[in-house]
Amino acid sequence: MGINPEVLALFDEMKAVRRQIHQNPEVGLDTVETVRLIKSRLDGYGISYSDIGVNSLVAEIKGGEGDTTVAFRVDMDALAMDEENDFPHRSQTAGKMHACGHDGHCTSLITLAAYLSEHRDFNGTVLLLFQSGEEGYEGALRVIEDGFFEKYKVDYMFGFHAWPGVEPGKIAVHSGACMASEDRFEIHVTGKSGHASMPHVCNEPFAAVADIIKGVQTIVPRKVPSHERGVVSITQVHGGSLRNGIPDRVLVQGNVRTCSEEIRDLIEDSVGQVADGVAIMYGVETELDYVRKHPVLVNTTPDIAVRAAAKVVGEENVLTGLESSMAAEDYAFFMQHTKGCYVWIGNGRDSAPLHNSRFDFNDEILPVAASFFLAVIEELL
Ligand SMILES: [Zn+2]
Ligand SMILES: [Zn+2]
Repeated sequence: MGINPEVLALFDEMKAVRRQIHQNPEVGLDTVETVRLIKSRLDGYGISYSDIGVNSLVAEIKGGEGDTTVAFRVDMDALAMDEENDFPHRSQTAGKMHACGHDGHCTSLITLAAYLSEHRDFNGTVLLLFQSGEEGYEGALRVIEDGFFEKYKVDYMFGFHAWPGVEPGKIAVHSGACMASEDRFEIHVTGKSGHASMPHVCNEPFAAVADIIKGVQTIVPRKVPSHERGVVSITQVHGGSLRNGIPDRVLVQGNVRTCSEEIRDLIEDSVGQVADGVAIMYGVETELDYVRKHPVLVNTTPDIAVRAAAKVVGEENVLTGLESSMAAEDYAFFMQHTKGCYVWIGNGRDSAPLHNSRFDFNDEILPVAASFFLAVIEELL
């Protein structure tokens, strides 16, 4: 099938839409104007929709009598950062920028909507989910908590991310883990303050902190099996206010990534052991606050995605051997409720990295992504 020719015919129009969204970035759950633009497009196509979550939107397109439902999910939010590009469609708002390509993700789904409005020759239901707040704002959870899986019987869900370092026209499909879990922890270390010259009458917290930092960073190389992946990073340490005093309290913060729920459990337990052990060793109090942010994104139907991708870009351009990313993606929450697959579509070998101030979504992806979604519909409906 290749790139669908009617989808390709929409390219110039959709490129303009993508650039309009790029110029007007909205951060977090606050995707009001982006949703307004998408609604006006859907109105023009005669496609009905409902609000869901916080400033997220589901459109429903029925074709034929089939009772299978396939959902496609894209994100819409930008990042709170300044754009350093100087092309005409750069961000018009200081401190906000589409540096993760979500402007292109949602435009790809608008492209699919435009095509499907004229071609309802499939047998079942297609849902188009435009989601706010992917970048750490729990947008997916807001959609799920608002009853997405109760309101709609979702049999499959698919999504994608534009991926720097991969040529446009290549689609990467992972079997199993595609993106990592993300957890955050804080360890509050409490000792006893006093004069810097007399640590023996204090309960000095920094020695304990040093061993906490060393201990948690030793978990991956010493406890995680070498064929598994994990990252533990210390991200913040706060404590003390005097040059000649020992403080009562020090706070250590860290970030954990894994590619399996078993390793995630192992690391959480191990961080707890380090905190408890150091408390005994130094006679300080340690209090661990460990927060699970995102689960591992596990693809359960890679076979369907591989077949659909091969139809669009050719078998030789479907990459199945790439390592999963240690970045997290809140699409993972949807995969706890239904089957599906999340793929990467190449943003170009020399693309700036994601979240970089010079990143830009590669418009060539628009027809590739929309044709990939169409091929999935062809596979399933
Ligand atoms: Zn991002
Ligand atoms: Zn992203």
